[in-house]
Amino acid sequence: MAAPIPYGHQSIDQADIEAVAASLSGDWLTTGPTVEAFEAEIARVGGATHAVAVTSGTAALHAAYAAAGVSSGDEVIVPALTFAATASTASLLGAKIVFADVQEDTGNIDPSVVAELLTERTAVVSAVDYAGHPADIDALRPAAHAAGALVLEDAAHSIGSLSAGRPVGSLADVTAFSFFPTKNMTTAEGGAVVTSDDGLAARSRAFRSHGLVRDRAAQRYPDEGPWHQEIHQLGLNYRLPDVLCALGLSQIRRLAEFKASRTAVFDRYVEGLSDVPGLTLPAKRDGADPMWHLFPVRVHDGRRREVFDRLRAQGILVQVNYIPVYWHPYYEDLGYRRGMCPVAERYYSEEISLPMFAHLASSDQDRVIDALRAILAEE
Ligand SMILES: *Cc1c(COP(=O)(O)O)cnc(C)c1O
Repeated sequence: MAAPIPYGHQSIDQADIEAVAASLSGDWLTTGPTVEAFEAEIARVGGATHAVAVTSGTAALHAAYAAAGVSSGDEVIVPALTFAATASTASLLGAKIVFADVQEDTGNIDPSVVAELLTERTAVVSAVDYAGHPADIDALRPAAHAAGALVLEDAAHSIGSLSAGRPVGSLADVTAFSFFPTKNMTTAEGGAVVTSDDGLAARSRAFRSHGLVRDRAAQRYPDEGPWHQEIHQLGLNYRLPDVLCALGLSQIRRLAEFKASRTAVFDRYVEGLSDVPGLTLPAKRDGADPMWHLFPVRVHDGRRREVFDRLRAQGILVQVNYIPVYWHPYYEDLGYRRGMCPVAERYYSEEISLPMFAHLASSDQDRVIDALRAILAEE
């Protein structure tokens, strides 16, 4: 059998390897000058003032929620169709999660549903750019702000995407990126909080490093001594090492190349699959210019499991993104019940993510297209 085709894969070139090697022989392994250089580039790509590099997308969400002041008694609105970390990081801070249903076409949080769920206790409305397609942040912001809530964009899928010409990172009050290997660019593990709000940036930065206050002007006991540091708010160690920022800095130079390549993969799937009956391909709304992270298809007629199993048996390592978050036993045990977000549940029940990554070989992609066509041609 031909070699298996993964659903996602990093792209590491010689320049990436040399950047990491150079960083390893420098003076800094962890917090050093490459962290700041990487943050400056992430902020630039995101069209925002600040970026705070952290150890994962999950850490970015956790830091962003903490910076937004999320705590017990607060509600956080989260789309049902996402990776659990969008919700679990807010749960860890004590928030009550309110799950919102999604749009039929994009799988993104539905602003008209959110409007019904906002209360005076809502602290944050989280939107996920499912598959890389920007969520409708412009439709979420006015109602969220009127209720005193911030809008957080979980952009784990979507660094490099644009909405009406504006980059993801500049749309919401605060944005979380992930640099896991399958995402649009990688630092192995890594993530970033991006915002143009000085306070949110400062609090995210503090949360990344135990909440330590080193600035004497901000200390309660500045005369304690030159060694003195204070904790005013709790935090963790979420610092992204210099070595990994060196990889990120090299990867970010390749972002345009990755986008062109992912767009070509997307277009080839559309070309090869758009006439196949029993299949819905991902939709793109007017004004959206996604950097596609996933290629999610919907398989009709109750055939998702069969199609998934048969593709896997041929070495096509498809995925399903995502089980509705409240189906996880942790949330079920808190009393959330199936049926709550029917659009997301139906989306999940039909969804398969086809292999999608920069530099997916055309011959491999054609194997995927031919296999899927052949399976669906059978009654
Ligand atoms: C990958 C992902 C995360 C978490 O990112 P990590 O870097 O793996 O911690 C969060 N939300 C979504 C939607 C993701 O896809």
